[in-house]
Amino acid sequence: MIAFWERFVPENDTGAYPEDEDTTNTSLCLSLELQGSLDFSSTAAAGKDFGGIYHKKPLAVIRPASPVDVARVVKVASLSSNLTVAARGNGHSINGQAMTDRGLVIDMRAMDDLIHVVTFAAGDSGYVDVGGGMLWEDVLRRCVLGFGLAPRSWTDYLGLTVGGTLSNAGVSGQAFRYGPQTSNVTELEVVTGKGETMVCSETQNPDLFFGVLGGLGQFGIITRARVLLQKAPDMVRWIRVVYAEFEEFTRDAEWLVSQEEGRESFDYVEGFAFVNSDDPVNGWPLVPFHSGQRFDPSCIPRTAGPVLYCLELALHHSSEDHSITLDKVVGQMLRQLRYCRNLRFEVSVGFMEFLLRVKQTEQAAKASGIWDNPHPWLNLFVSKSDMIDFDRAVFKKILRHGIGGPMLVYPLRRSKWDSRTSVVLPEGLGEEIFYLIALLRFNPSSSGVEVEEQVAQNEEIVRWCREKGLDYKQYLPHYRNQDQWKRHFGKQWTRFVDRKTWFDPLALLSPGQSIFSRTT
Ligand code: FAD
Repeated sequence: MIAFWERFVPENDTGAYPEDEDTTNTSLCLSLELQGSLDFSSTAAAGKDFGGIYHKKPLAVIRPASPVDVARVVKVASLSSNLTVAARGNGHSINGQAMTDRGLVIDMRAMDDLIHVVTFAAGDSGYVDVGGGMLWEDVLRRCVLGFGLAPRSWTDYLGLTVGGTLSNAGVSGQAFRYGPQTSNVTELEVVTGKGETMVCSETQNPDLFFGVLGGLGQFGIITRARVLLQKAPDMVRWIRVVYAEFEEFTRDAEWLVSQEEGRESFDYVEGFAFVNSDDPVNGWPLVPFHSGQRFDPSCIPRTAGPVLYCLELALHHSSEDHSITLDKVVGQMLRQLRYCRNLRFEVSVGFMEFLLRVKQTEQAAKASGIWDNPHPWLNLFVSKSDMIDFDRAVFKKILRHGIGGPMLVYPLRRSKWDSRTSVVLPEGLGEEIFYLIALLRFNPSSSGVEVEEQVAQNEEIVRWCREKGLDYKQYLPHYRNQDQWKRHFGKQWTRFVDRKTWFDPLALLSPGQSIFSRTT
């Protein structure tokens, strides 16, 4: 078993680390004059993450009271020969990205202030300035309940910090219209790897602004973000329709995300693949919203394969809308789609309930212990032109029995992503559409054997993509050495390295990504 885990130790965050270095670094930390706190003993939680695959032992955990504290920590680390600094959001990474081996973890959850909300145009839009460690679920509650406003672009699960998702992209069913969360912030306050606190935007320090967005924590620590807001709807009509054929599923999904905003378009478009069987974890029972709805397998065409597809849609509406009128509008919008008739499920829920939908799953999974078991997840962006092959080889063959959790697959639009950010997308050769694939595995037991098999299956999928020459990128990427990172960034590698040289020349920040090694 040990040999298995050893394979996963990154190459450049290890090495000999003499005990006396710890003593010197401890003295350095004790010289910090913080408004917040410094803890050398309760560090275990900061050495784990949601993935549950890696574990590291930090030297200390700092809970900053302000950006001044964050800057002091970075500066003190720069005085040492080997200390690194990991900003930790809510630790929901999979592969140790927010960890540091004997370095300093900054617990960003301590910086979760909602600083202020500014509204424009009769209160119908505006922005909110929030601390980088604020959870999106708190942003939601504060903005909706206090101001009737809400951010435009979300993730499916909101127990993630603003700084954590902005360091990646932040994607959900609204991204086809508004782009990822990185396309919905207009200003950041950042502490760079030089310990400088800078405000940045499209026009002020743009290299830092675009570098930090999707920058995997490499260039600075986000202490504040300005997030765009729009009027929050009261209610959401939430719909699932089932497809037997991948080509029909993708044709409809792509058509829906290509519609301009208006009466005839949905506000949220996602999709998932599931097993064509009554398997309670991977099959038909995943589709109905509640036990009062029945999935009738006789509606599945005989030609269907081992995997079916579900388009998940949502339409915002007012609580004053009459349900008969709404039914009619939804009916008209769905009429144009080619899903299996009689395999359509709908519910109306409050807007906050809809956005907090994964919270219920979290609570149930915590109660059964599954939430705390390892999660070897894999997320990919795959170009539209490779999706038929991907479906044939991956969904229909490698994953035909399911993964013990959701297998998300839905289209995104390239024009909604800003190429100046650090996020990398498939090349696309002029294609507007690419797909998000998210294999969100949940383990019923904490047995390492299952995890080992799942990691191997993820590797098989990535290997297959590479060997077949698919145009793809990992989302929430995980690589073990710089050559792999170079391949990941492709043409953008030079820009990424330049930004590192400008903003974090000693490579102090986010060592858990295993991209750069600390220099002196
Ligand atoms: P952490 O895991 O703590 O940190 C992630 C990285 O960001 C680390 O490198 C860290 O050093 C760096 N970082 C953290 N805070 C800051 C900061 N303030 N400034 C600079 N760098 C920082 N992603 C999606 O896009 N869409 C989804 O729908 C989605 N759903 C998810 C559901 C679950 C249950 C989970 C576990 C993850 C999901 N994710 C999703 C992935 C998630 O967006 C990323 O894992 C994200 O990084 C987690 O945020 P965090 O606050 O826990 O960050």
